[in-house]
Amino acid sequence: MYLILLGPPGSGKGTQAERLCKQLDLPHVASGDLFRDHLKRETDLGNLARSYIDKGQLVPDDATIAMIKERLSRSDCRGGTILDGFPRTQAQAEALDSFLQELGQQLTGVLFIAVPDDVLIERLSGRRICRKCQTPYHILFSPPREAQTCDLCAGDLYQRDDDQPETIKARLDVYHKQTAPLIKFYKAANLLHEVDGNMDIDQVTDTMLTIIRSLRP
Ligand code: ADP
Ligand code: AMP
Repeated sequence: MYLILLGPPGSGKGTQAERLCKQLDLPHVASGDLFRDHLKRETDLGNLARSYIDKGQLVPDDATIAMIKERLSRSDCRGGTILDGFPRTQAQAEALDSFLQELGQQLTGVLFIAVPDDVLIERLSGRRICRKCQTPYHILFSPPREAQTCDLCAGDLYQRDDDQPETIKARLDVYHKQTAPLIKFYKAANLLHEVDGNMDIDQVTDTMLTIIRSLRP
């Protein structure tokens, strides 16, 4: 199964991907997590990506596509994957299609998580991330059992630099201009399934699992 979680920043892609991957036994491929790992390791790609991420802009397509192709080529993705945060542009969506074709695979479905902008701002402003395993929390909506500590791996929680008000605004603008057109693209390909992301985390997961189980693998 090759599934895409499409949605604005803060819609719950990472939160849901973690749960769905566990249920479906699929690897989670999150472009933002991969970039943050490159930033931490100060690789050439990390140094290139930094200025874009800090401003809330998209990292150029060439570099992003190459990073995802490399990740999807690893053996753990052979049986499929859940893509979170990729594709975000038309060029990335087309590159993904051709790459899956090269692998003799095709997309199973795209789950579009719809959430209004005012809710996204509230979610992103209170988000905290585990430094070790990247699990997202929210100070009000999904707090850890122990303050500042990940429930799953006991790692430290931190607030992403790009979850500050100015950058959040830039990221939402970028989403509406560059990523939202993919909704139409995948609708035309008969792959799009819209989910109301403005419900409890558990309800969103249940809705998504029902959709996924109805899809052809
Ligand atoms: P994305 O990966 O799409 O940017 P996240 O999964 O990191 O979004 O979620 C953004 C923030 O919103 C996190 O703090 C998360 O805990 C919280 N969150 C996710 N889904 C919900 C939900 N259904 N209701 C309330 N808060 C949520
Ligand atoms: P995310 O963790 O998905 O919110 O992504 C954090 C940042 O990484 C984004 O604001 C972009 O700067 C960059 N990024 C993540 N995924 C992509 C992508 N598919 N294309 C371009 N840039 C990306």
